[in-house]
Amino acid sequence: MAATPATRMRAAVYRRPGEIEICELPVPEPGPGEALVAVSHCGICGTDLHLILEGMGVPDQTPGHEWSGRVVATGAGVSALQEGDAVVGGPRPSCGRCPPCLAGRPSICRGTPGFGGGDLRHQGAFAGFLLRPENQLEPIPNGLSPREAALAEPLAVALHAITVSGVGPESRVWVTGAGPLGLLLIAALRAQGVEDVRASEPSPLRRERARSVGATAVHPPGELVVPRMPFESVEAPVDVVFECSGKPEAMEAGLAQLATGGTLVLVGTGMRRPRFDPNRILMNELVVTGAYNYDEGGTRRALDLLAHGSLPTATLIEPGDVPLDDLLPALHGLARGEIGAKVMVVPEESANPAGEKETG
Ligand code: NAD
Ligand code: ZN
Repeated sequence: MAATPATRMRAAVYRRPGEIEICELPVPEPGPGEALVAVSHCGICGTDLHLILEGMGVPDQTPGHEWSGRVVATGAGVSALQEGDAVVGGPRPSCGRCPPCLAGRPSICRGTPGFGGGDLRHQGAFAGFLLRPENQLEPIPNGLSPREAALAEPLAVALHAITVSGVGPESRVWVTGAGPLGLLLIAALRAQGVEDVRASEPSPLRRERARSVGATAVHPPGELVVPRMPFESVEAPVDVVFECSGKPEAMEAGLAQLATGGTLVLVGTGMRRPRFDPNRILMNELVVTGAYNYDEGGTRRALDLLAHGSLPTATLIEPGDVPLDDLLPALHGLARGEIGAKVMVVPEESANPAGEKETG
């Protein structure tokens, strides 16, 4: 039986660039078809750095989208879930009717609100509790801790990028940017049997992490050669580059590492634009594509991978969890590359059973 939810909760509210306020807010009540979830853990994403530190967020919203928790109350008509169930945020809402949805690509659904849109009631997880429609929740498999389960969302992002890329075990791969997402991607590629996974990353700490999660060679970005002429190749080109930094320099250097017919998958987001040599693209028939959000069923697959112990989660997650009050310093530490891997925020109310009780 789940604990009776509190009536007040603490939440990190984004106000203006670089500023969040820890507020006390009423715990929302679940409407029809909704579940109220006590947040156990919420990972900090590179996107949170863009939203909060770089000011891309919508003022007065609570960010946090990489979470796990436990259902503490349900609204009318909720049938698939009950109080006490351990869950993560599941499929992103998609309309099921637009051309991308009909083609099995819900990640680029045109019929649902984009970034920053959506229902204000369904705010983010840097808070004690959150509401979600039951069809946007995914049960955590038995035996997987809520802390590790909070990696499911960014892992689903990494798995989608792998799907988009078409890599196989024989592919030669480069990952630019070994932040928390790049590290997950490296680990996921290795778990899928890809042997040759190289990486570039400016932070020495993160280069070390990249090696320990399975990168076969790791370089500072300055070591990447960018040939001048479009038909010139680097000495050891790769078939696929996953760009996970969002930096134009890395996008440009990544394109230059590709073998003929290779694919650059843009995963990192940023406001500054790259300058690509169109002749390099056309003479080598390179593909430049993006990867956004998840495959259909991606969260489930991510949870299964985590439950099977296929990933080095102890290296992928920072050892010390962070209370809500330390969210801002953690954001700065991540932005400076002084913190290596995924930081888990534990909102205060997680003294509730969500964070403590083991699943299974
Ligand atoms: P992050 O932004 O901190 O990681 C970026 C890493 O790139 C850092 O380690 C940084 O040191 C490194 N970097 C900077 N310049 C570089 C260069 N020239 N060459 C190589 N590496 C360089 O955090 P993250 O959580 O790893 O997120 C990565 C990016 O992915 C962010 O931009 C985030 O918004 C984006 N993202 C995209 C999706 C999607 O659906 N496509 C989903 C989640 C996150
Ligand atoms: Zn994320």
